[in-house]
Amino acid sequence: MFCLRPAKGCILKMRAIILDGSKKADEIKRELSERIESLKRSTGAVARLTALQIGEGGAFSVYANSQKRIANAINMDYELIKLAGNISEQGLIDKIIELNRDESVTGIILQSPLPDGFDIIKITSFISSDKDVEGVSPENKGKLLLNACKVVPPTASAAMELISLCGIDLYGKEVVIIGHSGIVGKPLAMLLLDRLATVTICHIATSEKGNLIEHISRADLLIVAVGKPALVKGEWIKKDAVVIDIGINRVNGKIVGDVEFDRAGERASYITPVPGGVGPLTTTMLMRNCIELFGQQKGII
Ligand code: NAD
Repeated sequence: MFCLRPAKGCILKMRAIILDGSKKADEIKRELSERIESLKRSTGAVARLTALQIGEGGAFSVYANSQKRIANAINMDYELIKLAGNISEQGLIDKIIELNRDESVTGIILQSPLPDGFDIIKITSFISSDKDVEGVSPENKGKLLLNACKVVPPTASAAMELISLCGIDLYGKEVVIIGHSGIVGKPLAMLLLDRLATVTICHIATSEKGNLIEHISRADLLIVAVGKPALVKGEWIKKDAVVIDIGINRVNGKIVGDVEFDRAGERASYITPVPGGVGPLTTTMLMRNCIELFGQQKGII
């Protein structure tokens, strides 16, 4: 069971069921471990994720450590290649081309952010669509529109996993997504449209025009990916809504989401905590994508 009720007396008026992303991630990791073993028996090889990082930095090591830890836990190969901080755009593209040709590399990931001035669309277009484990290449983004992508961007797929735990029937439901980024809001909108939900995407202009509350208050499913703590007030949430908070913010040394968790939990039916909701599942979904691509590359579905 991946849904928790809060401890009695802990948060007095909390009525929502808390969606436990860490627990769901543990279950998926066990499945991935078994899949890796079975693919190893049939192919004699193991999926390998190669991450490219330019320069050094605190956020980089957090991502890389978590990728490495999860890959180790499921016995998948993981390699972090650190490129010089002053590498040129062409130097990075050459490295990507080299990895595309290397048959031992299953998936390629570019650690963000790239240096200022680098053309992200040009660079990602060089990642082979067969190895594009994050679904960031223009080809894979286009295929998402056609419902024909090889793998779904990991954060969007983590959110979908948690939504499916609620058992919500998406058909015709009012879904409001706040945040229209290419890695979260837009892919989620496509996935939810394919499930025949009625999808609205809000963003900074929705807020600035004073229309955010109106949209939020009619959402049966609210997904927030902005990066602003307490942007969404608990009292705006429709009663019994499902609330998926993807935001990650550091406030006074603590990690919090974009939604006022306690107050929203008084009205919602299900809610994700931050930390412990979408975050822990995202890296697991990245690994799942890599194993999926490995199977496709070896002709095993
Ligand atoms: P982004 O900066 O690319 O996009 C932010 C979005 O928020 C934009 O659509 C912008 O218009 C909108 N926005 C900004 N201010 C707003 C306001 N006042 N009202 C309404 N909309 C507003 O961000 P991103 O890369 O999509 O990340 C968003 C958040 O999600 C960040 O906190 C990030 O750390 C987090 N995130 C979490 C995961 C995860 O695995 N849990 C993965 C990716 C991103």
